[in-house]
Amino acid sequence: MSQAGNGTEVGLADGIDHQVAMVMDLNKCIGCQTCTIACKTNWTDGGGREYMYWNNVETKPGSGYPRDWEEMGGGWDEEGEERTPGELQNKEEYGRAWNFNHEQVMYEGSDEPLRPMEQPDWGPNFDEDEGAGEYPNSYYFYLPRICNHCTHPSCVEACPRSALYKREEDGIVLVDQDRCRGYRYCVEGCPYRKVYYNAMKKTSEKCIFCYPRIEGEGPEGEVMPPSCAEDCPPQLRLVGYLDDEEGPIHKLVNEHEVAVRLHPEYRTEPNVYYIPPFAPPQHSESGESIESERIPRSYLEELFGPDVHEALNTIERERAKVERGEESEVMEMLTTTDTADQYRLEVFD
Ligand code: SF4
Ligand code: SF4
Repeated sequence: MSQAGNGTEVGLADGIDHQVAMVMDLNKCIGCQTCTIACKTNWTDGGGREYMYWNNVETKPGSGYPRDWEEMGGGWDEEGEERTPGELQNKEEYGRAWNFNHEQVMYEGSDEPLRPMEQPDWGPNFDEDEGAGEYPNSYYFYLPRICNHCTHPSCVEACPRSALYKREEDGIVLVDQDRCRGYRYCVEGCPYRKVYYNAMKKTSEKCIFCYPRIEGEGPEGEVMPPSCAEDCPPQLRLVGYLDDEEGPIHKLVNEHEVAVRLHPEYRTEPNVYYIPPFAPPQHSESGESIESERIPRSYLEELFGPDVHEALNTIERERAKVERGEESEVMEMLTTTDTADQYRLEVFD
């Protein structure tokens, strides 16, 4: 751990100069999968990666991708010292890449709709928009996920070859492709199931937080945010450094405490944070609004831990301020459309 200038604990891993981080506002996600495609076309369109989505967006409540990943173990014990065992999932649990009838529809004049050539029985976000609850009070929301570039990454610890490592300059977690022997202990060890095995290359691969973009290898040497963030139509991702005290990430996470971690009980200390989702109140049988939250707090607590309550309460108070015409730093940060505020990647040398 390191201390920020004002004494605030910012929770960097030992030996890490700065930590990249992302805040995603779940209230804005429309489930369009633009982020998924942006990532896929940038990084995982090669052989052996057909099933891989370094960025995926799943519907919650739902089984996610891979199917039931939250029940597969991994991470750390309650003291955060011993790794907990995880399972290795199979390809069916990720969902196979289906072949579509492109040829017939595009080139052979078929009137059939475009569809998979086999009956799909599972795939990424297979349970899209299903959610839970009874009509008229059913609910769902989208949960975009990438590797969390954790402060205490169990994937790194799991590798006997030290092929996974956390970069000193920005805390990005990478797989050294020359050292990796494809043992897949990292795949079992990550409780978020965000390391993938490439059966053609026989190595593990994972989200790289678009490090060439943030290093300034974009067109004309520009520093650019990760593709998933830049391409998101509602611009729900803020990108920066956890230890940049003037930046929105530090303020939302450490000062206002409105951005929370997904499954903090896995104890890997993720550096992707979420603004928890709100929903309209429930309706009575006659269609009137009643004072009861549509998304059960107990479910949100299951996902984001007990801090989610205070986060939701604070956001509610901040929204009320704006409604009264007062200023709210939280709401300003969450609604800014200025890219200089959304992406603060050039604050450290
Ligand atoms: S999310 Fe998983 S793969 Fe990514 S750093 Fe954390 S433990 Fe490792
Ligand atoms: S691009 Fe943005 S809105 Fe669309 S699914 Fe991804 S995170 Fe959600």
